[in-house]
This record gives sequence, C-alpha cells and structure tokens, in this order.
Amino acid sequence: MKTYIVGNWKLNFTVGEASIYLHKLLKALPNYRDIEVVVAPSTIALQPLSLQVDRHKIKLAAQNAFYRDYGAFTGETSFSQLRGIADYTIVGHSERRYIFGENDKMIEKKVAAAIRNKITPILCVGETESERSFGETADVIRDQVIGGLTDVADDDLDKVVIAYEPVWAISSTKAAKLATPDEIAEVVALIRKTLADTYGKEVAEKVPVLFGGSVNPSNAGAYLTVPGVNGLLVGGSSLILSEFTDIIEVAKRVRS
Ligand code: PEP
Repeated sequence: MKTYIVGNWKLNFTVGEASIYLHKLLKALPNYRDIEVVVAPSTIALQPLSLQVDRHKIKLAAQNAFYRDYGAFTGETSFSQLRGIADYTIVGHSERRYIFGENDKMIEKKVAAAIRNKITPILCVGETESERSFGETADVIRDQVIGGLTDVADDDLDKVVIAYEPVWAISSTKAAKLATPDEIAEVVALIRKTLADTYGKEVAEKVPVLFGGSVNPSNAGAYLTVPGVNGLLVGGSSLILSEFTDIIEVAKRVRS
C-alpha cells in the first residue's frame, strides 16, 4: 500500500499564493511512486490548480463539498462540479463537525456523493477530549466509521481512506496535546476491527488509515511507524513548504 501524505491548507492562501506554493512543491518533489502526496486547497483554488498540477507527483483534494449534485442550495459547491478537478476530498473533518454542525447523516451522504463522482473520500473520525475522558472513544469511533460508510457499497470500500484525527490533538484546538503512538495504535486497530466486523477482514486490510493531529517533521517518523498507520493528514505544518517537504522525506525514509 502507498503511504499518504495529505496537506490540509484549511482557510489559508489566496489563489495566487496557492499557485506559487504548488509551483515550488512540484519543483521540490521527485516522482515518488510509493508516496501519494495530496494537497487540499480552498475550493476556489481547486480549478486553477488542477490545470497547473502534475498528477504524477501531486494529487488535489477538496476540503468539503455538498452531497447534492445541483439545485437550490445557495453557496454550495457539489462533488459533481469537482469531478475531474479533485482526486480526493476530506469529509467529516472535526472543524466541519463542530464549527459547521455536520452530523453523521450528512457525512454519510457526502462520502457517497464523492464516490459517485469518482473522488476518493478521506473520512475523518476522532473523539473530543471530553469523550476520551469519559471513556467513550471506542463508541464514538465505531459510530463515526459505520455512520460515515453507511451508503458505501461493499465493492466501493476500497475507494475510501480513513483518517484518525483525535480532536484534542489538532493544533488549532485549545491546549492541543500530542497523541502518543500507543494511543494511536489502539484506535487504528479499533478502526480496522470495525471495518473487518462490518465488511470482512480482507477488505478492512485494504483501506488506508491515516493519522492527523499536530504532525510535524520531528514527530512524523514516530507516527508513520505506528502499526496500521498508512500515512499522515497534516494541517498547520503543511502551510510551510519546507516542513511539508521534510515530512514527505521522512515518509520516504521510513518506507524504504
Ligand atoms: C487537521 O486539522 O486536519 C490537522 C491535522 O491539523 P494540525 O496538523 O494543524 O493539527
């Protein structure tokens, strides 16, 4: 399986800044066969960047889109409009869940809409600090995984990526803490068990599971060697080109 390094730029960079960053990243990167490098710019930058990107080196992800293909949904962009432009899409990021009120029902529809439009969903799951402190982590993760995949046919499960992002470890969270490799290993194993119980062991092994939460060049190696982790979802550190390329270098070293 490839190693995924996904940069989530969130609400940062103008279209011009995003284009300059992509230009520099393309120049800095060789064509790594075994590392899938993905960047997720704001929706407005996706179309121009899709004309600039070399997809042998880098893929593009949307950060969000709406599950209906067209209609009276003021302000929304559909996955059908992003078809052929975005290769991946983040779905169910904790900022969408907790700032914009997205629930598992909406996330389930977004995952299905992405697949319908040939865009690979990166389904984010993760418990909050208080859920962890009340011992609810396993239930939350199970519900988010099963809920998010409800509309996915068994045959399409190999078109899904899952990212474990404990909300308390995300750098924008107040007093974010670093997740330990053991904490991550436990939840990643639970994600695979949930997939295996629902869809069978063989399919469960094929789904890439990423980790995200304050990843930087110094901790990337430790996180990439956690059993069951197939890549990283990087927020803050992906905004600094040298840090993002260093993380990709670490991935290359760890995997070779
Ligand atoms: C994220 O928000 O997806 C994320 C992982 O952010 P950060 O790396 O900044 O914690």
